[in-house]
Amino acid sequence: MNSKMLWQYARLVVEVGINVQKGQPIMINCPVESAQFGRMLTTAAFDAGAKDVHINWRDDYCTRQHWLYADDSVFDAVYPWEAMKRNELAKEGVGAISIAASNPENLKGVDPNRLRRYNAAAGRDLKEFSKLQMSNGIPWCVVSVPIVSWAKKVFPDLPDDEAMERLWEEIFKAVRITEDGDAVAEWHAHCERIEGYAKRMTDYDFAELHYKNSLGTDLTVRMPENHMWIAGGDYCKDIKFVANMPTEEVFSAPLRTGVNGTLVASKPLVLNGNVVEGIRFTFKDGRIVDIHADTNEETLRAEIDLDEGSHYLGEIALVPYDSPISNSGILFFNTLFDENASCHFAFGEAYPSCIKGGETLSEDELKNAGINAESNTHVDFMVGTADLEIVGKTRDGRTVKVFENGNFAI
Ligand code: ZN
Ligand code: ZN
Repeated sequence: MNSKMLWQYARLVVEVGINVQKGQPIMINCPVESAQFGRMLTTAAFDAGAKDVHINWRDDYCTRQHWLYADDSVFDAVYPWEAMKRNELAKEGVGAISIAASNPENLKGVDPNRLRRYNAAAGRDLKEFSKLQMSNGIPWCVVSVPIVSWAKKVFPDLPDDEAMERLWEEIFKAVRITEDGDAVAEWHAHCERIEGYAKRMTDYDFAELHYKNSLGTDLTVRMPENHMWIAGGDYCKDIKFVANMPTEEVFSAPLRTGVNGTLVASKPLVLNGNVVEGIRFTFKDGRIVDIHADTNEETLRAEIDLDEGSHYLGEIALVPYDSPISNSGILFFNTLFDENASCHFAFGEAYPSCIKGGETLSEDELKNAGINAESNTHVDFMVGTADLEIVGKTRDGRTVKVFENGNFAI
């Protein structure tokens, strides 16, 4: 891989993704297969003045062994030191970088009940840190680099090295890195453009949005009062960071009890190391009352049965069908990319910043504001199609076409 572009990528994550400040500790979750990029991030973070860099290495092989063969007792709790490490670093304002890259089918055959139990335990025991992250109390950034098992799932007909090369090309395109370009400047311009859409959506102050397409989606989503649409960058105490690279979405949080109808997924979802295809949900007053999937329905059901909040939507996100990642026509089997190629929703916890001033509200206050403020999960799934139509109704009774033929109409 072109090392000049790799260095640009590492600096982009450090300077725009986290926006590392002098004296700030940095934590990086990194697959062992991506050690080279982990080292570059480390160097870039120190160059930017980081106080220290803590790397958490992970490995698909060992992870799979753990899920298959570890003693059954280990899936009901997280070791206290795991929580302590995160919480202590958070007190110092850690910037958290995660590299999302794994074999999409790494946990095929693992008991879904183990996954559900552990995810519930992790949600409970790591709550302090995840709440802080969800409410922008620390800057965080999720990015991806290719690993062979993932690249082969995306490009099954290519030999290993060509599949890796192709996935690198696609990732660089998605994060706007070119050989002689200025990725940092590109990102500032890109964020400004999608932040414009977010502002327009917020100004409309929609009371509800109605989704319809030929896949069978026919869904009404009511929006809470004082909701905000967000895109591009977020703020942690006035310091801008970008939580997802790439990001194309303009998102908010629906009214927890205001979702009714049928919602059909338009892409497979990689969930807990399994590929779930053909998802169809029915909603009644916000709650998922019927679940169907063509494959791995059990995996999906286990995640939705995690807690009461996981039965409700926490995110509504708009992505034009005609956008760079979508136009590549590639199914990435990685939510970071697939969600940024498609309109999507998430079931589970909402981002507090989707309500005006929400970052400083308590869980009860957020509930009163109407969003899904209590769940130990947050799972995005894709619903956008070329023929998706979204019609909005404003609080003063106007009807506005928001999406037509899969793209923004506002
Ligand atoms: Zn999203
Ligand atoms: Zn999400």
